[in-house]
Amino acid sequence: MITTCQINKKRLWDSLMELGEIGADPAKPEEGVTRLSLSLEDLKAREFTINYMEKAGLEVRVDAVGNIIGKFAGKDPLAPIVIAGSHIDTVIQGGKFDGALGVFGAIEAVRSIKESGISLTHSIEVVSFTDEEGTRFGTGYIGSKAIVGCLEEETFQLTDDRGISYAEAFRQAQLNPALFKEAMRKKEDVKAYVELHIEQGRVLEDQDVAVGIVTDIQGPVWLEVTFQGFPDHAGATPMNMRRDAGLAMAELMLVVEEIAKKHNGVGTVGKMHVEPGGVNIIPGKSVLSIDLRHVDKNSRNEMIEELYQAISRINEKRDISASVEIKKQVDPTSCSPEVMELIEESCQELKVKAIRLQCGAGHDSLMMTKLTQMGMIFVRSKNGISHNPEEWTDKEDCMIGTQVLLNTLVKLAK
Ligand SMILES: [Zn+2]
Repeated sequence: MITTCQINKKRLWDSLMELGEIGADPAKPEEGVTRLSLSLEDLKAREFTINYMEKAGLEVRVDAVGNIIGKFAGKDPLAPIVIAGSHIDTVIQGGKFDGALGVFGAIEAVRSIKESGISLTHSIEVVSFTDEEGTRFGTGYIGSKAIVGCLEEETFQLTDDRGISYAEAFRQAQLNPALFKEAMRKKEDVKAYVELHIEQGRVLEDQDVAVGIVTDIQGPVWLEVTFQGFPDHAGATPMNMRRDAGLAMAELMLVVEEIAKKHNGVGTVGKMHVEPGGVNIIPGKSVLSIDLRHVDKNSRNEMIEELYQAISRINEKRDISASVEIKKQVDPTSCSPEVMELIEESCQELKVKAIRLQCGAGHDSLMMTKLTQMGMIFVRSKNGISHNPEEWTDKEDCMIGTQVLLNTLVKLAK
């Protein structure tokens, strides 16, 4: 079946731009968009999304963990559901497209299908997942984890930088943390999951194509390492008598770079902190975050192993101790060949040139793959920039990606 139904490009673009104003200061465009999960800005964006879904004619509900779900009912209420979604929370000073395109592209696709009078057997649900980024509480994919039954109760004890617990943040958003298990979905109730997302890299731009079909997704591991040394006087303590936790951190940061390069993976230290934090005090304690990724699980595990060895070495050398906490560990995964095939067919019937590529960033699809067959459609990111105010995807590319999503959804739900 060839779909002739077309999305409304202007409506899609306007929705992205309007959402992008929430959490942004018009006087400071260089600061981008900040909508940390369940913050006031995120709550505003959530309200905007609910209203927008209702305007689009979807039946809207919010599940036990705050996932916003807009449904377009199919002819057969018992047929398993096709889900399309992404997230609307952002990192600190992020952009207008990461996550947002997947949610508002899916709304636009379903709205266009509905308006064109096409009736489908399977229902389609657009899901805006709670807290994909994990920036505020240090762990992400909360909404998708809850749906697939992987969310752990301890998550609600995590606190943000201001000491607010996840449970409290939930209550502030009118959610009851004790009910999180109610968000879980059954495998037999879901047919497939498709996510439209910006690439966040520069492969598509290099190859001069607008659309990519994702084959594999890297699984990120987030660790937090705390070194405990001794905070001595910076003048009175000779260099050979120090137990400097700051230097231990610096040494480990270089090790992260070395390990990532050696294994052809990626490693990043994005958060650093020393205590007590005085000009004339040797750091007695340091805390750093480490993000390690690889498409191959074995290589990734080797990277972690080497990191632990380096920590022991540093401890011994500097007479300090360290503790390591794994904040997040998601295994790399492959996309469903069947869904990839349908995305490919959609590209062909739309005469859209597309390539297959690997995905370096983590997404809710990493969780959804535990529940159902999963596929991802990528669109070109300008200069490959993401998690940055300069993140950009052209209007035309947003439109093409959304149109590919529409055709794919029709194929899955027909
Ligand atoms: Zn994203």
